[in-house]
Amino acid sequence: MPAAKIVFFTDGVSESNRLAREALESCHLSWTEKNISTDAEANAFIRKLCGAPVSPVLYVNDHWLPDPTQEELLEACKVRHDSERLESRGQTIFDVIVVGLGPAGVAACHGARLGGLSVLGLDENEPGGHLLNLTDVDEYLGVGYDDAISGREVADNFAEHARHVGAVLMRGKVNSVRIQGAFKRVHSTAGNFWGRAVIIATGSTQRELKIQGVEAFVNRGIRYGAHVDAAIYKDRRVMVVGGGDEAMHAGIFLGQHAKHVTVLCPDDKPTAEPLLVERAVGHGVRIIPGTKVVAVKGTDTLEFIFFVEKGIPEEQGLPVAAMIIALGPAPKAPIPGLERMPQENGYFAHGEGGKTMFGGIYVAGDCTNIEIRTLMSVVASGSLCAKRMWQWLASNPLPRLKV
Ligand SMILES: Cc1cc2nc3c(=O)[nH]c(=O)nc-3n(C[C@H](O)[C@H](O)[C@H](O)COP(=O)(O)OP(=O)(O)OC[C@H]3O[C@@H](n4cnc5c(N)ncnc54)[C@H](O)[C@@H]3O)c2cc1C
Repeated sequence: MPAAKIVFFTDGVSESNRLAREALESCHLSWTEKNISTDAEANAFIRKLCGAPVSPVLYVNDHWLPDPTQEELLEACKVRHDSERLESRGQTIFDVIVVGLGPAGVAACHGARLGGLSVLGLDENEPGGHLLNLTDVDEYLGVGYDDAISGREVADNFAEHARHVGAVLMRGKVNSVRIQGAFKRVHSTAGNFWGRAVIIATGSTQRELKIQGVEAFVNRGIRYGAHVDAAIYKDRRVMVVGGGDEAMHAGIFLGQHAKHVTVLCPDDKPTAEPLLVERAVGHGVRIIPGTKVVAVKGTDTLEFIFFVEKGIPEEQGLPVAAMIIALGPAPKAPIPGLERMPQENGYFAHGEGGKTMFGGIYVAGDCTNIEIRTLMSVVASGSLCAKRMWQWLASNPLPRLKV
């Protein structure tokens, strides 16, 4: 096996430098050393590359390793090849880090791996995102049109497929993403990672119903999203607030469990896809357009809901057992470090393929100003994003050193 060509940028003193030296020595490797504490040129070079005087930084066989673990270093030197060990989280340096493992993020992980890149996907929950809340997925081409398939099953299949092609998917909340020279530094509860590129796929959140009293009854009769536990709605009168796809999905689901389901649609007519409206009505759901909820009342739990209906001057009140708020998505606050990314109505604005104004940072799925928020469109956006990012990496190589 030819000897690895290694340049070791060290500060000469710190513990991580000692460990890197120990790993190289233990394998009888030789290297060229540059001390960034005494060599101004080496120091300036590392500052430019990593955005800070990071050490150790190793250059091994044309690859840059900022602050590598011993496993990563030996792997790059081709001394140890133990893919299981790397998968078991010895690794901290990746070509691409995907933040958020909903359908868009998992599709991005899969696409990036197809480009031959090392990929880490991080999610504060298990992979699946909104999919995990869906009882039945029936609008993804080729899936669930005949026999019902749960969102969890689709989510598990997605994650399994991404892992199958070699993506590392981990649980961890990302607390910040910082550009450091030619790298991105991702700080998470699972550890800190270096990536050449980052794909943000953090999804959206639920739009809140901002009227007095609602907050007091959340989880005491009022819920955001309907798909949690069908049993509590059984044989009861339930109201859904909203008129988009999410409200119709909630109506269709509840129509199979509750006694009466009424959708209070704030607009003059539902904004949901016509077929969904048809299906909701087919499940016995009553839709009242032009209604605005004005108050909720109860003692320990929700008991009454009051609303005004277009064309009827008097306020109306109805007894209800539960109210589901399904007003559709709302943007999330950006992860620290990404606040300067351009936004449109609170969602990340982007160019073709999820490109942003920051080289090597891409965005995909519901966290963007995507026009259609469905499984099919976000999966497509994740895949395209991976492809564009992969092309960006190829046209933005890191500097090469003569060893
Ligand atoms: C009630 C409802 C029903 C729907 N029904 C359908 C349907 O039947 N068919 C259909 O096609 N579409 C449906 N959709 C739409 C579809 O589910 C979404 O468009 C899709 O899930 C968005 O995917 P995403 O990957 O962009 O985001 P999400 O699915 O929201 O995933 C984002 C992920 O990012 C993670 N995350 C966020 N911040 C961080 C952080 N700081 N660190 C780590 N992880 C983080 C979250 O935990 C989450 O897992 C429905 C949506 C809803 C709300």
